[in-house]
Amino acid sequence: MRDLRTSNRARVLRRLYFDGQFSRHELAGATGLSQASVSNVVGELVEDQVVVEAGLVGSDGGRPRVLLRVNPDHACVVGVDVGETHVLVEVFDLTLRRLAMSTFQMDTIANRGEAVVERVLAGLAQCVEDSGVDPGRILGVGVGVPGLVERGSELLVHAQTVGWNGVPLERMLRAGTDLPLFIDNGANTLGQAEMWFGAGRGARNAVIALIGSGVGASVIADGVPYRGASGGAGEWGHTTLSLDGRPCRCGAHGCLEAYIGAKGVLSRHREAAGLPQEIEDEEVALRDLLAEDSQAAREVLNETARYAGAGIGNLINIFNPERVIVGGWAGLLLGERLLPAIREVAAKHSLHHPYQQAKIKLCELGTESVAMGAATLPVAEFLGAGGVRSSALMRPTG
Ligand SMILES: [Zn+2]
Repeated sequence: MRDLRTSNRARVLRRLYFDGQFSRHELAGATGLSQASVSNVVGELVEDQVVVEAGLVGSDGGRPRVLLRVNPDHACVVGVDVGETHVLVEVFDLTLRRLAMSTFQMDTIANRGEAVVERVLAGLAQCVEDSGVDPGRILGVGVGVPGLVERGSELLVHAQTVGWNGVPLERMLRAGTDLPLFIDNGANTLGQAEMWFGAGRGARNAVIALIGSGVGASVIADGVPYRGASGGAGEWGHTTLSLDGRPCRCGAHGCLEAYIGAKGVLSRHREAAGLPQEIEDEEVALRDLLAEDSQAAREVLNETARYAGAGIGNLINIFNPERVIVGGWAGLLLGERLLPAIREVAAKHSLHHPYQQAKIKLCELGTESVAMGAATLPVAEFLGAGGVRSSALMRPTG
């Protein structure tokens, strides 16, 4: 009985959370629950103040109906973006409206796990103070990190490129906070933000393809991220595009990243134009390349579209997604210009039927949604539990 009640509460709550305001009558149609079940569930959710009444809507001739919505002030959540050179902490209300933020720039996080933990905890304290929220109302802290997140007997972060080799991040953060912690790869949290509020809305199967200096992906299979055996799935950038091809920073040759990552694109251009390889600011250099009117620039960009299209064709053939969503700072810059060409090439490199099912689009939330995506992790748990807090489940109150 308890499970059924929880799942009914979760169905109603998810509908209100993702699709806005409904009357009790509409909720029955939208959830497939009986009118009586909806009335019971809504009664409980209103009593718990998870859901509030949002006004009246007229119905033809009959009595006006009461609209219901999720109460944004019922609880709040924290999202953290640990990037390679920054730590960003944000506090959101339950509907993920930002209430406060705190950001720290670091030269690098390489081999500096302790310093990152200090920054996260300091940012958390700062944000709680600035937003004035009661810490008792925080559902949890979601953290997006670079690298793989392995969930064994202890959660470990492996980020080869910044020298994090099995950093026990959960245990280290736990020493400074009692709040529930949710740690995931930053590509996955950004992907989750796109699935909830951006280009992935409404899809169950999608790949969010992220192109920055490096290249990664978040694979969403039937609504949830596909992680593989130890959190290493989605390393699209290190799939082989050319046997014995260009060297990649992972140590292998011919990886996709070595061709379509910002570094790979710029380095191919510099070779073709006979320029030195040193690049001070990759973003400035990529913008310059896109603005350059030269044969060498055009050829490098055409080739980039061909490599990216072939890589996306592979994703389509392996995962049969409804959407391939291209993002990351370089992905957005390149995609704006190259998306039509990328689609054409992807069509040639994938089977006809899965290609027809897959829309190739750009991310809609920009490049800064890692923290917001991390904050969806405690919200997802709350919605799945039918609006009951995990901390309330763990510790009896009173
Ligand atoms: Zn590689």
